[in-house]
Amino acid sequence: MFDINQDDQAIAQQLASFVPNRILDMHMHIYRLEDLALPASSSLQNGPAVAGIAQAKEYYSRMLPSTKCLGGLAIGFPTSDGDKHAINSFVASEVSSDSMCKGSIIIDPTDEKSARDLAEANPELIGLKPYHFFSGREVTWNADIDEYLPEWAWQLADERGMLITLHMVKDDAIADPANQKTITSMCEKYPNAKLILAHAARCFHAPNSKGLSSLAGLHNVWFDSSAICEIEPLLDILLNFGADKLLWGSDYPVCCTRGRAVTLGRDFIFLDQDSVRFDNLNTKCRPIVIGLESFRALSSACKYAKLSESQIDDIFYGNAKRLLGI
Ligand SMILES: [Zn+2]
Repeated sequence: MFDINQDDQAIAQQLASFVPNRILDMHMHIYRLEDLALPASSSLQNGPAVAGIAQAKEYYSRMLPSTKCLGGLAIGFPTSDGDKHAINSFVASEVSSDSMCKGSIIIDPTDEKSARDLAEANPELIGLKPYHFFSGREVTWNADIDEYLPEWAWQLADERGMLITLHMVKDDAIADPANQKTITSMCEKYPNAKLILAHAARCFHAPNSKGLSSLAGLHNVWFDSSAICEIEPLLDILLNFGADKLLWGSDYPVCCTRGRAVTLGRDFIFLDQDSVRFDNLNTKCRPIVIGLESFRALSSACKYAKLSESQIDDIFYGNAKRLLGI
């Protein structure tokens, strides 16, 4: 993890003409390892102890040298046992000195006061990052949205025009009727909140994108492309919502993992060095990093949607610039 090899470089060359030469990342996690309380076996332990905006940008410049990431939305890194206060303080300090970045803070459903105080004290913190780990459930992958994205967070976002980056869960993700109902009702009730549905409304299982139609007519919903390696959900978003609703995101440091997120059966799988012995397959397989896989899927989706150069520029830059107010 975090290395770039000659296979990555070969694919990066193919992508150079697609990705504009300046981009903004709308899903960049930044962190200090000491705040995250990760197990010793975590692959992040092999990376930088401090992964701030500069480290993320440095990685992108190696992954895709033809483009320059100017900034974007720096998001705290949610871990189940991490120190949320320290994680958010790090985001606040990083974005305070970078005029091309805004920050998004991890929210704990039980702690409205901390989130309000932080947002009020730091105007460059314009985003909220709920996460299912904080739903209070033992098994969090089936959590209802309102268990980890409480109504006070919608109110706060509505009052201040903040972004909410939502990584929804449940097997069917956006095809799940309860998820659809909560998103629709809350977006209508809080029209000044700006909802970004991470991972193309979490369509790692591409057929779940059939549920995107439930969001038709909601003006305050966007999608980020982060870590999505399948064409179908990205194409669905482009064809049904338009290029001005899609935002490029890297999901740093996830983009640094070598492998691919793939629809498989009724679910999806992250094919990576933990799940696959790439050196022990019947046929040669040379995996590249997820960041490049994701660029490649987005490139195909843009081609099939017949996007113009300026629409592609919106996905990588213009839409983010408008949402971040930079
Ligand atoms: Zn993420």
